[in-house]
Amino acid sequence: MARRRQLYEGKAKILFEGPEPGTLVQYFKDDATAFNAQKKGTITGKGVLNNRISEFLMQRIAEIGVPTHFIRRLNMREQLIREVEIIPIEVVVRNIAAGSLSTRLGIAEGTRLPRSIIEYYYKNDALGDPMVAEEHVAAFGWASAQDMDDIVHMTLRINDFLTGLFLGVGISLVDFKVEFGRLWEGEEMRIVLADEISPDNCRLWDTKTNEKMDKDRFRRDLGKVEEAYQEVAMRLGILPEAGARDLKGPEVMQ
Ligand code: UDP
Repeated sequence: MARRRQLYEGKAKILFEGPEPGTLVQYFKDDATAFNAQKKGTITGKGVLNNRISEFLMQRIAEIGVPTHFIRRLNMREQLIREVEIIPIEVVVRNIAAGSLSTRLGIAEGTRLPRSIIEYYYKNDALGDPMVAEEHVAAFGWASAQDMDDIVHMTLRINDFLTGLFLGVGISLVDFKVEFGRLWEGEEMRIVLADEISPDNCRLWDTKTNEKMDKDRFRRDLGKVEEAYQEVAMRLGILPEAGARDLKGPEVMQ
């Protein structure tokens, strides 16, 4: 395979220059971090599973008419995506209280929320991704009112759709984080779903047992992390074609 120029390395993914202008290759690593990278580790096979899970979910989301950056999966650990200008906001949707919401507001983990709640966090590692209000987003020009309108609309559609999709396979979608980007097509700009959707950025609980099937297993040292990610893929009917045989996949190309 041709050598590619690395453009960016994040905590769980690497972005390489794509084969055509306006495209990038998104490589999924096995590295895992939590608590603003204070906790670091490796979850063997996570990159392969997240590549496949995110491909599946992005495709399904595109089918309901929400545009995404996803073009196609290239191999076990890489997918071809459209190059977008990432909007520096993490959009979190919550259906059931957990994580920072429970800690901050003292609401018992597992409490079903009376309505879905959307929160915004400013994407800035040095500041620890602080929570912000829509006022900050507008005041600092991170996104326009129209952009935010599109983002909220798409986020709520994604939440309703994924909630149903996961319920169908016995999983409760507790909360998740999404990111959006601006895609330029000539003079036209549209906001599209970007980044990834996987057990790294969703809380997924078994509907019957409430067992955690997501990154909280790593964050809270609950064990069986790989197995949980694999179980999510299995329930969605999308275990990688090589199965558990080669979850390592190709090595990173520098
Ligand atoms: N989340 C994420 N990246 C972050 C912070 C949160 O993907 O930098 C996801 C997280 O996996 C969970 C949801 O957003 O599904 C809500 O996370 P929360 O605010 O409860 O923070 P946490 O407990 O992860 O610190």
